[in-house]
Amino acid sequence: MKLFSEPCGMNDSAFITNIQHFSLHDGPGIRTTVFFKGCNLHCQWCHNPETISGKSQIGIDTRHCIGCGICESACSSHLHSINENQHVFMREKCQGCGKCAEACPAGALEMYGQKMPLDEIVKKCIRDKEIFPDFGGVTFSGGECLLQAEQVILLAGEMKKRGIHVCVDTALNVPWSVIEPLIPITDLFLVDVKAGTEETHKKYTNVSNRRIIDNLKRLTRISDCWVRIPVIHGINDTEKEVEAMKILLREMGEHLKKIQMLSYHTYGEAKYRCLELEMKAFEAPDLSDQERMLKVLLETGIPAEWS
Ligand code: SF4
Ligand code: SF4
Repeated sequence: MKLFSEPCGMNDSAFITNIQHFSLHDGPGIRTTVFFKGCNLHCQWCHNPETISGKSQIGIDTRHCIGCGICESACSSHLHSINENQHVFMREKCQGCGKCAEACPAGALEMYGQKMPLDEIVKKCIRDKEIFPDFGGVTFSGGECLLQAEQVILLAGEMKKRGIHVCVDTALNVPWSVIEPLIPITDLFLVDVKAGTEETHKKYTNVSNRRIIDNLKRLTRISDCWVRIPVIHGINDTEKEVEAMKILLREMGEHLKKIQMLSYHTYGEAKYRCLELEMKAFEAPDLSDQERMLKVLLETGIPAEWS
């Protein structure tokens, strides 16, 4: 089945930012996580800002720049210049070829986004097979990995052939026809739910949650899911939001196995700085907010925990 007009086979590539080994936060057990680049939500608290854009981007860590000027000559479009020890970069004109990052001797430039052949991704993922305990495996994440659904389907199929547990980490903001083919080859969907009310969802992610909720209702009737909530103090941990979340999650099917809450953190700060993006200020919930939220969500009858 072709989901998109472009042909896709194991000789084709996926556009990814990273393959992370030994991850303990992307599903059950020890996991290898493939981060796809490109997202159709824009959560204001995103901790992986390099995965939002569907294009390659250069990150500059000026603290490591030694002012050698090698990037000036590496870029045929002359987008880097060093003036009085100041590194000036015309980011908006960058084509993302990556030549400057390859040439930089100090590791001050990093290329976010690479097309990696699917067979190479498979090799990197199965390399860890021996160290996966019975409940570990591979997670496809992002960004929104389902924007490259054909690639995820092929990769997940390859994992299943080898008996590897597959998680798909998604916000489900795609047509149901994109999700459906993944169901037989996915052991567990990790579904990010950002807010209880449509109003808050729209305000902080730029999109409505209606399609997400419809997809989640269908999916939890046929396939195992965990719902994961990034909790931002004062935004989605208010009494109104948590109550709305409880009502919403109560309507889900019997395959919703767990609600996992993840406290806001600022681990993405360095990446915002390197991409010259503004990082908005948010707060993590304190212990009493966490306890209150857990108590309310346990009223759904679904196991809930802070991760
Ligand atoms: S090549 Fe790297 S270290 Fe040299 S000026 Fe450019 S960014 Fe700085
Ligand atoms: S990625 Fe390519 S186009 Fe962009 S600044 Fe570097 S060398 Fe120039």
